[in-house]
Amino acid sequence: MFEKVLIANRGEIALRVLRACRELGVRTVAVHSVADTEAKYVKLADESVCIGPAPSAQSYLNIPAIISAAEVTDSEAIHPGYGFLSENADFAERVEKSGFVFIGPKAETIRLMGDKVSAKDAMKAAGVPCVPGSEGALPEDPKEIVKIAREVGYPVIIKAAGGGGGRGMRVVHTEAALVNAVNTTRSEAQAAFGNPMVYMEKFLENPRHIEIQVMADNYRNAVWLSERDCSMQRRHQKVIEEAPAPEVSRRVIAKIGDRCAEACRKIGYRGAGTFEFLYENGEFYFIEMNTRVQVEHPVTELVTGVDIVQTQIRVAAGEKLWLKQREIEVKGHAIECRICAEDPFRFTPSPGKITNWHAPGGPGIRVDSHVYTGYTVPSHYDSMIAKLIAYGDTRDQAIRRMRIALSEMMVDGIKTNIPLHQELMLDDRFINGGTSIHYLEEKLAAREEVKSLYPSVDQRRDHH
Ligand code: ADP
Repeated sequence: MFEKVLIANRGEIALRVLRACRELGVRTVAVHSVADTEAKYVKLADESVCIGPAPSAQSYLNIPAIISAAEVTDSEAIHPGYGFLSENADFAERVEKSGFVFIGPKAETIRLMGDKVSAKDAMKAAGVPCVPGSEGALPEDPKEIVKIAREVGYPVIIKAAGGGGGRGMRVVHTEAALVNAVNTTRSEAQAAFGNPMVYMEKFLENPRHIEIQVMADNYRNAVWLSERDCSMQRRHQKVIEEAPAPEVSRRVIAKIGDRCAEACRKIGYRGAGTFEFLYENGEFYFIEMNTRVQVEHPVTELVTGVDIVQTQIRVAAGEKLWLKQREIEVKGHAIECRICAEDPFRFTPSPGKITNWHAPGGPGIRVDSHVYTGYTVPSHYDSMIAKLIAYGDTRDQAIRRMRIALSEMMVDGIKTNIPLHQELMLDDRFINGGTSIHYLEEKLAAREEVKSLYPSVDQRRDHH
């Protein structure tokens, strides 16, 4: 096992990795920006290094600063968490070239999967079903593009090969709008990701988002750790996740899970990863692979009993995978609500000082959060401040526990999306399970319409 691991991240995931290290008896180094100097997990770490000012471009994305922090602290390995540099192949390469272990896949695997066009090609070759669409990237010739779209069939979605975080996508319903949409997406992709390559997929009208968690070691052993349903999304961003996926037969899931584990063996994948699929009319369609730990990993940990972060660290240290596929069982049901510092109706960020914080508890409740009373949510980073996870023997019990936990949770001083989660935990369609990725947006749009027809006194006052 490693003596010392550097955690190249912040917030709840930095704390999650820190806890995993402590349990494994591994010493930790927290790197942090000026904005996070006072964070509790920074103080809990064995050592800490300030790597730059608040903006992430100068701190959490500052590769030379992170590498030199690893050097001065004599760290052996670097855990990238999620976001920031976690899927940056150049970073992984620099880490390994500098003599440290990158807790994640090889740089070449990250590069392969980071380009969604090459990722789809690799998955097709490995026998994983993909969304029908263009063969690789779209050509320049508008006539060719029109032809491809006719073959795929409208509506289509134009996606950036280098895209991520729900950005760089555009739905096209008619031929008249096609070429313009491709050009706009291309220039946006160039500006945002430095890569103008775009591709086309059939736009699935009513899919669910179901993903498979995999874990592989350095010796081509791989298992899949059940699935998650992340269909509750707003602007292509997940809001609620759960495991297992409601109303999908275990047999259908097992078939796709085995394909994913097989694909890992084929491409020599190592570490934790997620195959994301759209699921419609009983069929799975691969959309992308995430080569890191996911925000929503706790729901899988609760239903399988596998500690995903510890497993990441252990396989990175060279341990052979001890998990056997036939021994991995799904028990009970888990749901995660992402608690964000934002207005629950307008979704504008709400950073600031938390004047009073009380985390819920009781049977089946897990709170992954780095905040506390007196903590100031910085305005520079993602607005997620906590993950509230409820586990139950059944989905129904998990929902009931989640409702109670949400009602106990206290976050004063800033706005949070807790009221939205409370509403969703009482929503008939959510309670039935199996809603599509468009459901939340539709529900929010309907709510806006009602509000504009019957504005509340507050809204009218705001208006004047
Ligand atoms: P990102 O890397 O930005 O997260 P993804 O390819 O994972 O991009 O897509 C994010 C979300 O966009 C999906 O969860 C889904 O809601 C929507 N989406 C992507 N591709 C399609 C498609 N072919 N049809 C319908 N929706 C899609």
